[in-house]
Amino acid sequence: MAGTETDLNPQEQVAAANKAFEQEFERFVRFTAETAPTGLSLAEATADERALAELRTRHTGKKSALAATKKLIGRVEADQRAAFGQLVQSTEAGIVAKLDAAEASLKALIEAHRTARESIDVTLPGRRPRYGHRHPITLMRERIEDIFVSLGYVIEDGREIETDFYNFAALNIPDNHPARGTQDTFYTTDGFALRSQTSTVQIHAMQRRGVPVRMIAPGRVFRRDTPDPTHNPMFYQVEGLCVDRGITMAHLKGTVGEFLRRMFGADTVTRFRPSYFPFTEPSAEFDFSCFKCKGSGCRICKNSGWIELGGSGMVHPNVLRTVGVDPEEYSGFAFGLGIDRMVGLMYNLDDIRLLFENDVRFLEQFE
Ligand SMILES: [Zn+2]
Repeated sequence: MAGTETDLNPQEQVAAANKAFEQEFERFVRFTAETAPTGLSLAEATADERALAELRTRHTGKKSALAATKKLIGRVEADQRAAFGQLVQSTEAGIVAKLDAAEASLKALIEAHRTARESIDVTLPGRRPRYGHRHPITLMRERIEDIFVSLGYVIEDGREIETDFYNFAALNIPDNHPARGTQDTFYTTDGFALRSQTSTVQIHAMQRRGVPVRMIAPGRVFRRDTPDPTHNPMFYQVEGLCVDRGITMAHLKGTVGEFLRRMFGADTVTRFRPSYFPFTEPSAEFDFSCFKCKGSGCRICKNSGWIELGGSGMVHPNVLRTVGVDPEEYSGFAFGLGIDRMVGLMYNLDDIRLLFENDVRFLEQFE
């Protein structure tokens, strides 16, 4: 075709360029009509738009037959030059006008498709958002907090990564105590410990608030433990501390007893057994009468009628001295219990790991 073009005179070359355009443009003519065609899918319309853009480049671009005719303007006879120039110009204007009309029509079509896709049908019923709810451990923690707040306690929050001082030394845990070993405690590479009990908060609270103080500190603690149905390397504890003048073991028994009665019922009986903890002296573990069988024996209490719950005792004089409190003037008690364990008891869970597996089917049951 290029060979034949050179045989044509300039006017014929313009006509040929125009004719070639008209042939290819034929499939787009319908888009230049007064009413644009409908029934085209978005994909079809976008494909046509792309094809039209290519067609524009082919017929009006620098390498097009039309562009070649512009170079002939200087070569036609001087008396015909103006007329030829006008012919080239009007031909090009005609081509561009048709391309523009088809393009505008296609763009409108595509826009209409997109708007339809994004528009909202206000007559459809709305999607109801799924409301979450609190985790069973949070629910239990809040129940415990409510009881102690009503007894005049404040709630303290503590850090989960501690120095040796707060996690051990200040709690009267000697250097050779097994709890310091890496088999029991998680350490960071910088030698910090993930707190292995919430008792660390006692120290912070007394340093910050001084005494007298009445506080509870619920929170996560960490111990190297292989997970099984009753153990987890991360679990929740509540620490309680009361320091004032004249505080005795009787106050401890009264407070823990009141808490357990409010938690498990007015007829709940509390029992203290001598024990040992480095940060209390004397120390006691406490049990309460089974809330299920009321002491006659069942699966929950393993037929003993009693449920073991936590540790307690009178704050060790060394702990008081560490925070600058004179043990001759002040005394206090402390206690700690496991929140996860209480949740497990209350809901009769066979496996406390269920609490941390984030299975919504399980968690949904607690509201
Ligand atoms: Zn029982």
